[in-house]
Formats: sequence, structure tokens, C-alpha cells
Amino acid sequence: MVDLQTQYLRIKQDIDAGIQEVIDSAAFIKGQKVKDFQTHLEAYTGAKHVIPVGNGTDALQIALMALGLKPGDEVITPTFTFIATAEVVALLGLTPVVVDVEWETMNMDIESVRRAITPRTKAIVPVHLFGQCANMEALMQIAREHDLYIVEDACQAIGAKYTFANGETKQAGTIGTIGCTSFFPSKNLGCYGDGGALFTNDDALADRIQAIANHGCRVRYHHDEIGVNSRLDSIQAAVLDAKLPHLDEYIAARQKAAAYYDEAFRGCDRLLIPGHEAHSTHVYHQYTLRVAGADRDQLRERLAERGVPAMIYYPVPLHQQKAYLDPRYKDGDFPVAERLASCVLSLPMHTELDEEQLAYITSNVLEAIR
Ligand SMILES: *Cc1c(COP(=O)(O)O)cnc(C)c1O
Repeated sequence: MVDLQTQYLRIKQDIDAGIQEVIDSAAFIKGQKVKDFQTHLEAYTGAKHVIPVGNGTDALQIALMALGLKPGDEVITPTFTFIATAEVVALLGLTPVVVDVEWETMNMDIESVRRAITPRTKAIVPVHLFGQCANMEALMQIAREHDLYIVEDACQAIGAKYTFANGETKQAGTIGTIGCTSFFPSKNLGCYGDGGALFTNDDALADRIQAIANHGCRVRYHHDEIGVNSRLDSIQAAVLDAKLPHLDEYIAARQKAAAYYDEAFRGCDRLLIPGHEAHSTHVYHQYTLRVAGADRDQLRERLAERGVPAMIYYPVPLHQQKAYLDPRYKDGDFPVAERLASCVLSLPMHTELDEEQLAYITSNVLEAIR
């Protein structure tokens, strides 16, 4: 599904040198490398503040803590996503309110969001699923109308760009009140362990996020509020700082592979290629087909026999997960998400796919589905 080894070998010297520098400096925590990467990522994304943390899940949790949300406050999330999005809401004693997604883009459905708003709604967490932004124009409008926070889950979408009706273009994660991303190894900008970051343009929020990520502490051993311990370590920052200058090439390589897939599958009526959000670029964290009129699981098995890996992201929507079962929701309440869970299939997607591999994958998919 991914090839991190070949990608490493292309910039091995830079990565090795960065890691060696950290070891030589012995500044493993809060070292210069973390500051350098933070500054470089601010320049790349255009976010006024980047706050590096331990992982993407922590970033989401810290974002909700920094907004001062209280138990009973409702937070709207899509039901078709990775579990972390709702997990942190539940962990903080907030109430997750799930909504359906769109069939084409697989992102949050705007009408469902409007219907889910109550007097207790405090925040919306749109997930830029698989690498393209949700409909941020509409979501920002809803947030203004109802005075809500937007916490973008941009864990899969770093580098994606969204263009507003007024012509303004912003990067995924820098649009809402706070944005969150993950540097998990297989993410579009991945380190060699765990890592994550928050983005915000608000000075006071940045200060609060920084403090919460550091035990609620601004002055050493003086704790202003209850925080957590979540930091990006210097070795991971060194890896990320070596990879960041290549992020645009990495995105272009993913887009090229996606275009090859699109072209190969466009004529096949049993495979629906990913639909596009009108005003977002797509950075293809995943290339996800919808299998129609054929058995998805059987297709996956046949592909495995031919040495083509394929994965199901995600087989069970949030409202059907055992830990999140809720009397407010029943099967059938979110028909698009439920249908997607039964028909999506993600193909290998990474920066090192060459024409030979793509030809092998696509011809085998087309044969296996016949
Ligand atoms: C990866 C991911 C996360 C969590 O990131 P971690 O770094 O693994 O904690 C959260 N949300 C989405 C949509 C993700 O893809």
C-alpha cells in the first residue's frame, strides 16, 4: 500500500544528517530541530502558528481542550471517518453528534450538518477525508451563522488547497478556528514514528494550545490549567524538516498516480472513481474506489491472490462501532456512510508508484472485477 523505503533512499543523506545532528546535540526534546520545522511548516502552510505535538489524535484533543468546551457541549463529526475524530470528543465528556457524508466526495454532507445543529452545538469537526477538503465555504458560513468553532481534521490532507468564492486560497488546516494534522509514517508528510501538529491564526489560542500541550504550563512548574504531555521529539522533527521541501513533489506524484487510476477505471461501470470537491485540490492520501454491482470483498480477495494489496477505509461507520453505539442512532440513519462502508476499496497510493506498477495494479483490478 505504501513504499516508505524507496522514498527514504532518495533523501537518505539529508535525513541521516538531520538525525545525526540531533544525536550530537543530545537535544532530544524541544531541540532546535523542532523550532526549525515549526518555522518551516508555518511558511509552507501560511498558518500564523504551528504547534507541534505527539500525534494527530493528541492534536484533536488539545484543540477541543483549548476551545474550553464543557461536558454536554455537542460536537458535530462525520460518521464516515477514522475513529480518532470522535474518540477525543467522547474522552473529554463532550457529546459527539454524527452526520452523514456525500456519496461523491465522501466528505461531510452540509444539509446533514445544518439539521444536526442544536442550541448545545459548540463545534464542527470536518474531516478532509482521503486528501481533499470538505465544503469549507458552506461550513464557515454555518459557523458564522451559529457562532460555532471549526476544528479541521486535516490529518489526511496536509498541502491540499481550498479556494473560496472571493478568490482566496487557503491550505487545509488553516481555514477553521484550529486545524490538526498527523505525521504518522504513512501520512502524506510522515515521520519515522508518531507526530502531529495544530494550526491556528489566533495568538491567544496558540498560547493556550502551547500551554495545554505542555502540562498546562507557561512558566516552569507553574500550572495554569490541566494539560497533557504531548510533544514532537527532535528526531521526528529532523525527519520532517528533511521531507517538507519535497512535499509538493510528493503530492504531485500521488496526483499523477491518481490520474492514471482515474483514466484506467473511468470506462468500467462497476468501479466509481473518486468524486471531486469543487473548490479543493486533492492530495490523495488514499485513492478510494466505490465498487458498484460487484462484490467488494471478493474483489479484494482476488486482488490479494494476484499480489495487489487493497484496503477498506473504513469498514464500520462511527454510529455502528460497538464503543460508540448510542440510542439516538440506529442502522439506516446514515445511508450514504453505511453504503460507502460496504463498497469502498482503497488501492496502493504513495510517492513511488511507477508506470509498471500502476499498469499491473489496474489491469489486475479490471480482470478481477470482470
Ligand atoms: C491518522 C488520522 C488521525 C490520527 O492521527 P495519529 O497521528 O495516528 O494520532 C486522525 N484523524 C484522521 C482522519 C486520520 O487519518
